[in-house]
Amino acid sequence: MIEYENIGKVNAPFAAEYATAFQEVMDSGWYILGNKVKQFESEFAAYCGTKHSIGLANGLDALILALKAYDFKPGDEVIVPSNTYIATILAIVHNGLKPILVEPDITTYNIDPKRISEKITSRSKAILVVHLYGKMCAMDEIMSLADSNGLIVIEDCAQAHGAHLNGKKAGNWGHYGAFSFYPTKNLGALADAGAATTNDDALALKMSTLRNYGSQKKYYNEVVGYNSRLDEVQAAFLSIKLRRLDDINAHKRSLAKMYLDQLNDQFIKPIVQEGYFDVYHIFNIRHPKRDELRDYLLSKDIKTDIHYPVAPIDQQAMKGILDGQDSEIAREIHATTLSLPISFFHKKEEIQTVIDALNAF
Ligand SMILES: *Cc1c(COP(=O)(O)O)cnc(C)c1O
Repeated sequence: MIEYENIGKVNAPFAAEYATAFQEVMDSGWYILGNKVKQFESEFAAYCGTKHSIGLANGLDALILALKAYDFKPGDEVIVPSNTYIATILAIVHNGLKPILVEPDITTYNIDPKRISEKITSRSKAILVVHLYGKMCAMDEIMSLADSNGLIVIEDCAQAHGAHLNGKKAGNWGHYGAFSFYPTKNLGALADAGAATTNDDALALKMSTLRNYGSQKKYYNEVVGYNSRLDEVQAAFLSIKLRRLDDINAHKRSLAKMYLDQLNDQFIKPIVQEGYFDVYHIFNIRHPKRDELRDYLLSKDIKTDIHYPVAPIDQQAMKGILDGQDSEIAREIHATTLSLPISFFHKKEEIQTVIDALNAF
């Protein structure tokens, strides 16, 4: 059996260091907003190349609190790709803002910068881009479009830890980056966890206030805040894993290269572009007979996944929210995409078995 993912195996190389870190935090008696969080925040900011990083409870909160921090008005519009995980859109909806869908480029699966202009109105406030599957969006084009229209750019980096475009990392292109450290992500904790990145001092201060009951000084509440804190144990684990993130990404990239070099032409493979450093949180292919292909692989003891089976516009929760918006390209991707095994624990021989099985389909 070739598993699609096994987080226990991904974390096994770090087990001894995690155990020591756990004992240290346990013995310190300080479990929330202490030195481990501070240390991880400065290490993660340095890794991303940003001035600040703020530890948060999860990736969804990193998106929700960013939109809160900007104090947009109810009904203001946020441009977002039609092809994304639901969390990106939920963050907009939870703020009383209106998600305006923009279709992806069918070759990159990311928001198509050429389609953004036609969706900009007088109510547009922000572009919330998603570096899907670990590939950066066309950030140079998007930033110049945002600048000329006075729009804030928020990056959903939940699938793109360490990805970069022309050497500039995810989370350092826009005004704000939102990261998730959900266990399956390239930089995954052992529980829910997340972070923000920004180069904006005032925004960083606002985020650190919002995550902690709207307070900087204990029992003095300046704004209506939340409880969305990264905890010390997870921060300690994340500091350990961050040192190996480049190895994790390099391993995934070497497996991706095998797929890219060897899969035959019946499969649509991810595009590789000059200047883009992709980290393959997910390695997807597309095929018109996706479901048949998935069953066939399962009959050969190879597990796969689908990211995602249902486009946001077709989710029950989005009825009355996204109705009538553009989503045909997103639907086409959701109907044909298949995610192949590409985890840190997978061996080259296993990926070779997957490739041989696929090419015989
Ligand atoms: C995982 C993910 C999120 C949400 O992160 P959580 O930590 O699970 O809240 C948001 N956006 C994208 C694109 C994701 O993949």
